[in-house]
Formats: sequence, structure tokens, C-alpha cells
Amino acid sequence: MKEVSILGVKINVFTKKTLRQELGICFRGARGCSFAKINSEFLLRASKKADFAETLAKFDYGIADGIGVLWAAKFLSLPIVKNKALRVPQAFYQGLFTACSLVIYPKYVQKPIPERIPGVDCLYLMLEATVETESPVYLFGAEQEILDQTKENLEARYSQLRIVGSHHGYGFVEKEIIDEINRLGPKLLVVALGSPRQEKWIRANLQSLPSVRVIVGEGGSFDFIAGAFKRAPRWLQRLGLEWLWRLFMNKSKTQTGSRFKRIWQAVPVFMWTVVKYKIKYGANKSEEQ
Ligand code: UDP
Repeated sequence: MKEVSILGVKINVFTKKTLRQELGICFRGARGCSFAKINSEFLLRASKKADFAETLAKFDYGIADGIGVLWAAKFLSLPIVKNKALRVPQAFYQGLFTACSLVIYPKYVQKPIPERIPGVDCLYLMLEATVETESPVYLFGAEQEILDQTKENLEARYSQLRIVGSHHGYGFVEKEIIDEINRLGPKLLVVALGSPRQEKWIRANLQSLPSVRVIVGEGGSFDFIAGAFKRAPRWLQRLGLEWLWRLFMNKSKTQTGSRFKRIWQAVPVFMWTVVKYKIKYGANKSEEQ
């Protein structure tokens, strides 16, 4: 399977269709497969915090969850000259050009990563794969009320879904959760504790969960499914700006700092970090243009 590296983090080149196929293989397989959903905030955090980068590196799959990831993959795939004096203006030009194409001709950035798979859509794909393979599901995280509503809404959406257990994400006893999951034997474990906590939890505990075939760090999807957060209008989703809506409309429960600061980090700081990375390390070598 093709992969792209962005700021040292591995992203798999999936379409929704190939992800569904891979999930089928994971659910029928003999070991646990871990999935991380990667957006620009994740990439930035990984570039600054070695322990988070190490945690992500241990995941089996990275899914492109935001348009920023597609932009970075395209930008890093464009060849760049070796000459240091020419490299800087060329990197800026390429950065600007690829960023403008997001608005003018979005298809341009759909190589090497053909599409982004937003968090909630990815969870729906995983649940559909559990229905197809008759795999039991466990939901872990969020507030109790949100979790109950999520469960109810998911069961209404998929009549054959088998949610065998759930637990909220506040003030839990680690061992009790692990014991309960092992007693109920789910094959899909959805962990929604906010990032980076959920990724660290997955990394630390997957080995102790022998029934689990797919484990995923979910972020705020339960809040959307329960209806506590509203998803972006379709036209914003089509433009790839769902993340902007999320940052403006739905305050994170775990991330500190103002919305402006988060947008500042997720857009200009992220792009600047990727441009600097390319100036320093050059283009990604193995990608087709
Ligand atoms: N959450 C949780 N326990 C915690 C912190 C967060 O269960 O100690 C849940 C939170 O209720 C929400 C989800 O984790 O449903 C994602 O949190 P956040 O809004 O911070 O999402 P992010 O900004 O990471 O996407």
C-alpha cells in the first residue's frame, strides 16, 4: 500500500473504497490494527513533540482527515532544486501555487492522496465494515449523555450494528475498562478521549485487548453523531473546510487556547512548517506527480 510522509508522519493513500476493503481485511485478520486520523494540528504537534511523533509512528494506518494533509502531500511531492539560493523562492512559489489550487482547481492536490476521509465519515465506514463482518463494537469516551445519544443514533442508523458495550471518558478506572472490553470481546474499539490522550491510550493498551481487530482514535465524532455539535454545511464540506467550521463553531473539550489561535496554528503555522521542512529536507522522493 502506498504511503506519504509529511513532517515525518506516515499517511496511507486511501480512498473511501480502498479503506473499506482494508477494514474488511483487518476485521477478518488475526491481529489488532490501529488507525490514527491525521489532520494539520496532529502533524504540527508531531513535529514539535517527539513523544507524539513516536506514538503516531507505532500506528498501523494514518488516515488523511483534513484538506491540509492533501495540500502538504502535493506540495512535498513537487521536485525542488538542490541549489539553496533558488530553493527558498521555489518552495514559496510552490506553496502559494498549491494553496491557490485548493480554491481554483482542487483536483490538482488530489495526488498523491486522492481524497480526505473526514472523522465522522471514516467512523461510518468502520461501522459499515463491522455490520458486513458481523463484528461487535465498543464505544469508549465522551460524556455519558453524549455517549448514550451516540449509541441510540448509531443503532437507529444501522439496524444490524452490534454495540456490545460503552463507557464514558471521564474519571474511569483503567483496569476496569480493559477487563470489561476483554469480557465483551468487541472487534471494533472506538476511543474518543481527545488527542493526544486517545492515541497514547491506544498505543499503551492495544496489546492487552486480544479480541480487538480495529482500534481508532476518534476525537469529537461522538459529539457530532449525538447532535451536540453541528456538522458543516455540505458546500463547506465540499470545499474541504469542515475543519474551519469545527474550529469556529465547536470548541474543543481538550485543546486549550482561543479559536483564533487554533486556526492560526492549523493554517499559516502549519503551512510555514511544511515549507521550512521542504527547504531543509527536499521533496518526497517516491511520489508520482
Ligand atoms: N473526552 C473524554 N475525556 C477527556 C477529554 C475528552 O472523553 O478527558 C472526549 C470529549 O468529551 C469529546 C472527545 O473526547 O467527546 C474529543 O474531545 P475534543 O473536543 O477535545 O476533540 P479534539 O479537539 O481532540 O478533536
